Amino acid sequence: ASFEAMNLKDDLLRGIYSYGFEAPSAIQSRAITQIISGRDVIAQAQSGTGKTATFTIGMLQVLDFKSKELQSMVLSPTRELAKQISQVVGNLGDYMNISAHAVTGGTKTMQGDNKKLTQGCHVVSGTPGRVLDLIKRRILNTRHLKLLVLDEADELLSETLGFKNQIYDIFAKLPRSVQVVVVSATMSRDILEVTRKFMNDPVKILV
Ligand code: AMP
Repeated sequence: ASFEAMNLKDDLLRGIYSYGFEAPSAIQSRAITQIISGRDVIAQAQSGTGKTATFTIGMLQVLDFKSKELQSMVLSPTRELAKQISQVVGNLGDYMNISAHAVTGGTKTMQGDNKKLTQGCHVVSGTPGRVLDLIKRRILNTRHLKLLVLDEADELLSETLGFKNQIYDIFAKLPRSVQVVVVSATMSRDILEVTRKFMNDPVKILV
């Protein structure tokens, strides 16, 4: 399998190669085309398998860059991961006119978020608390959201982190038609519940 065979946009393919990738990893070979086809996807994959680039490449292929609306959101359990994802989106999308922004809390005011988000932002990568806060304050507009990714969903939904209610509240604010991609190292009862409640006939991919 190759990235060429995925029929990706030229500027995306260029971003992938200049980032240093030569061939897709197993998860990338199996999941990217499913994401592009619009299916909801559950990918059971650990860190190190290339999971981040999987949903990022799928996302970059389907975004409409002529629109300045927020179209894609990634939720992850830590600030560091949210920032890393935003960087990967920026790197793989280096030749596309993409605007990605990490919203992670930890800053007292939301003025920075407010400015970036109102200037037009295609992709937001954040932790659930700050994302929900920004939605409630109407700084983050989810009306045009096409794709939601839950990365490290087992961590996101774990009792210890306690994001579950926030994630359910975020889902309640999204268009019903939103495509959902869930990435998780393990499949817990909480993940199956999210799957049943918010996903539509998901494809399951285990690597
Ligand atoms: P992840 O599973 O997202 O944590 O990615 C693990 C590492 O693999 C990261 O350093 C990626 O940059 C790298 N990686 C992901 N996909 C590929 C690929 N197709 N070829 C080479 N390296 C990759």
